[in-house]
Amino acid sequence: MQRFLSTSHLFASALVFCTASAFAQTHAVAATASNAAIAADTASTAPTEPKAPRSFDLTAIDKTVDPCKNFYEYACGNWRKSNPIPSDQVRWGRFNELAERNRYLLFTELDKASQPSGSRTPLQQKYGDFFAACMNTTLADEKGDQPILPVLEQVDGLKDKAALAALVATLQSKDGVSAFFNVGSEQDAKDSTKQIAAAFQGGLTLPDRDYYLETDERMTKIREQYTAYVASIFKLIGDTDEKAAAEAKSVLELETALAKGSVPRVELRDPQKIYHPMAMTGLVELAPDFGWKSYFAGIGESGLTSLNVATPDYFKAMNGVLASSGLEAIKSYVRFHVATTAAPWLSQPFFDASFNFFNKQLQGQDSPQPRWKRCTALTDRALGEAVGQDWVKQYFPPSSKDSMEKLVDALDKALGQDIQSLPWMSDATKKQAELKLSEFRRKIGYPEKWRDYSSLAVDRDDLIGNLRRSAAYEFAYDLNKIGKPVDEKEWGMTPPTVNAYYDPAMNDINFPAGILQPPFFDAAKDPAVNFGAIGVVIGHEMTHGFDDEGSQYDGKGNLREWYTPEDRKQFVAKTDCEVNEYNNFESVPGAKLNGKLTLGENTADNGGLRIAYQALMNTLAAEGPGAEKSIDGYTPSQRYFISFAQVWCTNQTDKSARVSVKTDPHSPGEWRTNGSVQNFEEFGKAFGCKKGDPMMPENACRVW
Ligand SMILES: [Zn+2]
Repeated sequence: MQRFLSTSHLFASALVFCTASAFAQTHAVAATASNAAIAADTASTAPTEPKAPRSFDLTAIDKTVDPCKNFYEYACGNWRKSNPIPSDQVRWGRFNELAERNRYLLFTELDKASQPSGSRTPLQQKYGDFFAACMNTTLADEKGDQPILPVLEQVDGLKDKAALAALVATLQSKDGVSAFFNVGSEQDAKDSTKQIAAAFQGGLTLPDRDYYLETDERMTKIREQYTAYVASIFKLIGDTDEKAAAEAKSVLELETALAKGSVPRVELRDPQKIYHPMAMTGLVELAPDFGWKSYFAGIGESGLTSLNVATPDYFKAMNGVLASSGLEAIKSYVRFHVATTAAPWLSQPFFDASFNFFNKQLQGQDSPQPRWKRCTALTDRALGEAVGQDWVKQYFPPSSKDSMEKLVDALDKALGQDIQSLPWMSDATKKQAELKLSEFRRKIGYPEKWRDYSSLAVDRDDLIGNLRRSAAYEFAYDLNKIGKPVDEKEWGMTPPTVNAYYDPAMNDINFPAGILQPPFFDAAKDPAVNFGAIGVVIGHEMTHGFDDEGSQYDGKGNLREWYTPEDRKQFVAKTDCEVNEYNNFESVPGAKLNGKLTLGENTADNGGLRIAYQALMNTLAAEGPGAEKSIDGYTPSQRYFISFAQVWCTNQTDKSARVSVKTDPHSPGEWRTNGSVQNFEEFGKAFGCKKGDPMMPENACRVW
């Protein structure tokens, strides 16, 4: 499942944008990075401990703003003014404050473990050496392009197109290089107990197909900058200026042809549209010019007889591209993918080229992140469940897990009440919805059973080798699931991650230890503050089980209609209301949100806000008289909404915001806040707004 995160598809719905967990595909990470900027440097910015974020921050509020006109600016205005984007970031919000603090704490562990000593545990030795190899920029600079030369030689040795399939198999399974498409395992959408093979579109470098196809001035300029970047990479691996320029042009042409054949991101959100199980012969018919037999033999799956071809139209198009491209063009494309994947981790000139395009030109990042930040993130991605074992011992007390269980219970009850109160749903469908809710599984904190990294060799003096071995380990781990029972205990995020997700095939909600801290969760605060923050997060993940995507799956995680036809019609009318509403919200000048791309997340935001509010009301009612008292001059309801909004206080570069509008299924913080409160009449009541105020419109949308 996770390897597909680096493509344009997400099987699981995360709370905030997920960067690829397939860490070896670093160029894909760089290309799609949003809040986790992937950049390196030589500067030795000394790590300092960031201050712990606060829950419910009175100083963040801008009282000069009318909460009924723009609640986001009211709750976050002063925070936004006093928290400009740090030069090594492209987006800066409360999430980042906490994530940066977690990263610093993780760094102190890694730094300790990286000192060679006899007292290190085997795990500390493994992640300590991985981190040490990453930090060694002197060695990286000495080596230059040498670590990727053996791989480039393999590409140079390609004699004819018939041998391409075996080469692609090696690159994908051994070297962490993505080219043309992706293959991996997934749960069968119609029988979630089965792990099957799946083939998925891929092979692009820019963040989305639109970057190749749209002809406006901005996109045209990005393509020019991209072409210059590709040429610079060819020069760094030894080509003449003239040859590099010609090769760059041909890489852009080939990727553009693949982009034309790629299924648009919005369509990939529909689980029916990416479910095409077929016999292996079906794939061969779709793309007869690719040597599938040698490809599958090359990745160790020669016995495979069937698979889900998620994007059949893409494979047809890819076949056309392969048939019409010359051998030299194909080789240029593959050589570039080898080099750009490794570029962020090679010597300084490679890093500079990669940073300049992916981070600076594309996303507006001013300066690279200090090396220790990048290496901490890389180690967490490669060995997250090794590092995480030690991390949770220090930073995740059992009391946090108990509090979380209670909060999830409260949200579970509130969602049950919400289902009962839905005005548009028939009793028959409500029964089915309740059944699905009762079958939700929850995972809190960290895995019960940790992954075994013993077969992954780590060398203190070989960063690129570590990345390749790690990619091979992940690839094999993923393919090994095919034909085996589903492991319900598996996690898709590492413990220090500040995020959460719902997985429709597992029908589970997942909250890593990293998010269970202020500003999301604070045991010292009143219920209104906690329900407004972590409560809405829990409600958000639960609502994903019932959004336009999740509602197509039943409680067992199977793609099966459980609505009556009339209720489905009603549901689509409700979601259409949200699509139209969010289509009209603007992120930055001229960049309106894509209501269809963000529909699932908007539904989850709206539903989460409503059911966490219900859970708070239940809690206050149970507390009895006195529970309604104001604190800091705000009623519990007002504190609830302010706490919610303050989770989303964000500043983002203009360029990064434009990448997000194209690629991020989440709305920006402003609209996650204002879109949700203006659809919920309890907000207007709490702040004394009048019908017709911007935050209390006449025609609000409601799905759940
Ligand atoms: Zn979500």
